[in-house]
Amino acid sequence: MARSRFFTSVNRYFDRAAAYTGLERGLLDQIRTCNSIIRLRFPVKDDDGSIHVVEAYRAEHSFHRLPTKGGIRFSQHVNLDETIALAALMTFKCALVGVPFGGAKGGVRVNPRTISDGFRERLTRRYTAELVRKNFIGPNVDVPAPDYGTGEREMAWIADTYQNLRMNESNPYACVTGKPVEMQGIPGRTKATGLGVYYGIRCCLEDVPEMEAAGVDPGIQGKRTIVQGLGNVGYHAASFLQREGRAIITGIAEFEGGLWNEHGLDVEEVYQYRKQHGTLEGFPNAQFIQNSAELLEYPCDLLVPAALESQITAENAHRIQAKIIAEAANGPVDEDANDILLAAGKLIIPDLYLNAGGVTVSYFEWLKNRAGVSFDRMISRHEELMKGELIDEMELLTGARVAPDQRKRLIHGPSEEEIVVAALEQTMIIAWKKITQCRRQYEIPDYRTAGFVLSIKAVAQTYKTQGIFP
Ligand code: NAD
Repeated sequence: MARSRFFTSVNRYFDRAAAYTGLERGLLDQIRTCNSIIRLRFPVKDDDGSIHVVEAYRAEHSFHRLPTKGGIRFSQHVNLDETIALAALMTFKCALVGVPFGGAKGGVRVNPRTISDGFRERLTRRYTAELVRKNFIGPNVDVPAPDYGTGEREMAWIADTYQNLRMNESNPYACVTGKPVEMQGIPGRTKATGLGVYYGIRCCLEDVPEMEAAGVDPGIQGKRTIVQGLGNVGYHAASFLQREGRAIITGIAEFEGGLWNEHGLDVEEVYQYRKQHGTLEGFPNAQFIQNSAELLEYPCDLLVPAALESQITAENAHRIQAKIIAEAANGPVDEDANDILLAAGKLIIPDLYLNAGGVTVSYFEWLKNRAGVSFDRMISRHEELMKGELIDEMELLTGARVAPDQRKRLIHGPSEEEIVVAALEQTMIIAWKKITQCRRQYEIPDYRTAGFVLSIKAVAQTYKTQGIFP
């Protein structure tokens, strides 16, 4: 059977990195292979009473740590290869950023743009029931999250369905992450992947030795940036790049077309316009590009593909003008294109690092659900008291007085969102340092291979500690 380009690329990236690890073949085979897969077909009633038989999958790539974890995708392109490749990326992503889960992924073959809300809900609940029946979901088993075409709403339906089917379990809501905050979700999860993308790009661009070696001016400020996909990941990444990093967003590519303005687009205005009109067409003071794929080839410093896989292939890689390609989506650059871009001296910030913010914050949500307490509840007041005492002491020693509103600002204990965001930032900083160290240590030419080397070694270490491999 001919395998898809995405699936082949992920395996080849693995093999390339595996060669640096010196690990034995059997162990590498175990790490590379997908451990368990289900293929489902189930009926869902449409609003007019007609029945559609829906095709769906769940792949659990690695059981070296449990639960397994990975998003659920609603897309008309979903297939077995794609689901396995995405699940494999989850294993390596989690290992790279120190999230103690195996990788998994779910896919449902539907067009998320055309299904009604009613169909969407019936479909999500039925898919969840199928996963429960096959033991492919549960707080200790496999924990889904949002991905392309899904969000908070679907996660709420999953949690509710699971809870109803597993009444006696403690913390049933820990069966899924990315839930609404009111349903034991965690503040900051919705923006987490995009914010992590911003932190990852910042880590790379502010790494002066790395940027000097690559001939790039360090820093995000003023970098002309094109973003593909204004969904959950792309919107938040573009917003943070513009607001916090002061990048100039010159292009935004969406499904129905793209926008270009060399002086910059206001991300929030574009986002609101599309929400209101259902299209980017007609947005004022920008050129509308009918074939949005062309925007990938426009002049810019930074290209952020945040839609789907295999967007940059051997066919268009030669025409990419960006110096840095930041993989916010999973697998947007296939292996042939990867090599063409690297040979042209471009930098690729790889998906397994760059979009790991989502699973990192999902991990925090899962921990919170398991503990049954929010992170700020246990420390916030204590921190306020400690800081208050420190200020009292300083006043005593210096004879100076801190104004009441300044005191209030200084002693404020962290909110749960502040704790989550700080931990996410720290995770991205540490992982970037590890990638660059590994690259230097093994004299690896690119960040992706270095990321895979670290991940493979981390998974191998777990297997060895478990005594399965010598
Ligand atoms: P989403 O459904 O919220 O948004 C995707 C956007 O891409 C949509 O607005 C869609 O219209 C647009 N799009 C689709 N085809 C396009 C095309 N050909 N050109 C331009 N735009 C196009 O999905 P998302 O959650 O933002 O996921 C995007 C990518 O990020 C996927 O690869 C996903 O696997 C990855 N990812 C998502 C998360 C997460 O937390 N949601 C985490 C890690 C990785």
